[in-house]
Amino acid sequence: MATPALLRAAILVVSTTASQDPSTDAAIPALQSVFETDGDGKWDVTETHIVSDDAKAMQQQIRKWADTSNNPVNLVVTTGGTGFAISDITPEAVSEIIEKPAPGLVHGMLAASLQVTPFAIMSRPVAGVRKGTVIVTLPGSPKGAKENLQAILKMLPHACALAAGMDSRSLHKGGVKKLEQEAGVSSSPAAVPSHAHNRGHTHNHGGHSHVHGHNHGSHAGHGHGLVRHAPPEDAPPATPLSNDPSLGPTRRNRASPYPMLSVDEALGRIDEFTPGSVEAERPVNEDLVGFVLARDVYAAEDVPAFRASIVDGYAVVVPKDSTTESKTLSGIFPVTSVSHAAPDEAKVLRDGEIARITTGAPLPAGANAVVMVENTVLHALTEDGAEEREVEIRAANVRDGDNVREVGSDVRKGQLLLRKGDKITAVGGEVGLLASAGVQHVTICRRPVVGVLSTGNEIVEHTTRPPSMLRLGEVRDTNRPTLLLAAQEWGFDTVDLGIVVDQPQTLEQRLRDALRQVDVIVTTGGVSMGELDLLKPTIERALGGTIHFGRVSMKPGKPTTFATVLVKETRRSSFVGEGESVVSSGHSTRRLVRTIFSLPGNPASALVTFHLFVLPALHKMSGEHTRGLPRVPVTLSHDFSLDKERPEYHRAMVSVGADGVLRATSTGGQRSSKVGSMRGANALLCMPAGPEPLKAGVKVDALLMSNIRSEL
Ligand code: AMP
Ligand code: MG
Repeated sequence: MATPALLRAAILVVSTTASQDPSTDAAIPALQSVFETDGDGKWDVTETHIVSDDAKAMQQQIRKWADTSNNPVNLVVTTGGTGFAISDITPEAVSEIIEKPAPGLVHGMLAASLQVTPFAIMSRPVAGVRKGTVIVTLPGSPKGAKENLQAILKMLPHACALAAGMDSRSLHKGGVKKLEQEAGVSSSPAAVPSHAHNRGHTHNHGGHSHVHGHNHGSHAGHGHGLVRHAPPEDAPPATPLSNDPSLGPTRRNRASPYPMLSVDEALGRIDEFTPGSVEAERPVNEDLVGFVLARDVYAAEDVPAFRASIVDGYAVVVPKDSTTESKTLSGIFPVTSVSHAAPDEAKVLRDGEIARITTGAPLPAGANAVVMVENTVLHALTEDGAEEREVEIRAANVRDGDNVREVGSDVRKGQLLLRKGDKITAVGGEVGLLASAGVQHVTICRRPVVGVLSTGNEIVEHTTRPPSMLRLGEVRDTNRPTLLLAAQEWGFDTVDLGIVVDQPQTLEQRLRDALRQVDVIVTTGGVSMGELDLLKPTIERALGGTIHFGRVSMKPGKPTTFATVLVKETRRSSFVGEGESVVSSGHSTRRLVRTIFSLPGNPASALVTFHLFVLPALHKMSGEHTRGLPRVPVTLSHDFSLDKERPEYHRAMVSVGADGVLRATSTGGQRSSKVGSMRGANALLCMPAGPEPLKAGVKVDALLMSNIRSEL
């Protein structure tokens, strides 16, 4: 069965009356029932909104739905304002924001309506695409709106999938007949599916609502988790490219059907299909380190909050007129109070009095400058000898404001402290800055939780059996500990998903469980060309996911696979931590895109491809601007042989000498099964493909996995 894609639709009612009294609207229920009854279970009306006949309001709402990078809707239908009345301006307003007109949809609606009434010529619909969203204007009468929508609804999933960026080659595979069959239409003379078929049907769907809390196709057992529908932009190809595991080894593909992508193309797809960051509010504390701010942060209060002394000394009252002219303050003054840097009641200083004050202490009211203790002499003690009674001031050039930190002079309340996109580091003082300015919560981009799963019948926990006692064929799991640590080293929380055997149902179940627990699944093994290489078929066929690439021209790592799967949001996702509230669009039926990276099983390949492909995706989800490993030019310290066909990522040590030159030395044999080739490597050298070795002294790019070693 071809899994139907679940498409998100939005209804925008354009009606000045309904905008004042929503209870008068009949269009939303009418259209919802069309989606439900005639939509073949492919639609989910996730958004509705009512605006008056106001172009700006319409445009603003449609942009809000279409322009968001976070799960835009696939279809916006407006209803109302398409006639000849003076206030009818919907087509004009919508046309202004349509990027690609779709006159075919307009034609289809008009042709169908004309069969119902000649007055159809009085409707002025427009249709088109903005970003990845298809927009259609329907007439305002619920009946007319309904008939027009019915006229085109069967064709819309296809239009929406393409508009949302689905590859047209895979969508069109199987030809027009197949597409027509899937859409439930035929190219008989009545090319436009007639609404007339639907007349008189009762819309009884046994309480099966498509609008809220529905659960199409998910079976009891995983009803609260995975959604079997692929997202529209992720609609599975009409025919999966992967092997059908039930056909056995004799009928598998003997060459990979996946197109070979360059590394850059693969990175482009990762960037395109990895979901953007999700905002969450977090308290300001040391746990904030590593997060990227999702919003600008402003100072919550003035720093200092009170006028404070910059030095240890004596608060004095400088006559007001002395601000411009320098003045020598000298003489003997009574010490009438003491101000320490501690919460205390306010002191008052009168003309001719002074107060002893410590650095950071609040200035007594009336005081306007501080004289350093170094410029004073003790003149008289109190009777018990414990306190200063009089102090002589010997200071030149004392001015109003001297040695005083004015309120807000370090940070002014409301001042921009940190920007959206800034990263909170452990060394940059960001947390301290926020703390000082009274900021107690900030909105950050959540960081994805990474699950790591090893696959293979031969793979055993590395502690299984004593040394040299493995059974024939058994292999100790090295990828899981390696990748868990690598992900943690880059600051991500991880979930150990264990080891799973090469068995379709078991693998499917483990992946389903994992999809509920983590944001990104990284698997190793099972992506080559063997009959037990089940990752691609399981993701495509069992999970309804989309494989964005399954082969990359590189060494090591050729079979690296990247896919996305759509899941229904669960209320208690494990990665929504305690004390963290996810800022969501507030709708109950959100779908979340989960990414799956299926890396090759060979340990060196797994670690190279993790750094090359998984890391940039993790960075994107975390809101980071710079993604993936930093790239620097380095000089080869010896000759390097090249692969004739594929660019190679060569594990190397980069160090810097007294001359400041970065030099790269190979860490040895590069066979992809050699775990040891990663040992001591702090960089991946980007070696081109070529017939001849690259000579010592040649410069290549290095991707830095950790700090450069210093030879000094
Ligand atoms: P595969 O991609 O499943 O064909 O595996 C390729 C090679 O990597 C085989 O030799 C596997 O035994 C080995 N391999 C796969 N997974 C792991 C792992 N987790 N740890 C160590 N070796 C592995
Ligand atoms: Mg395997």
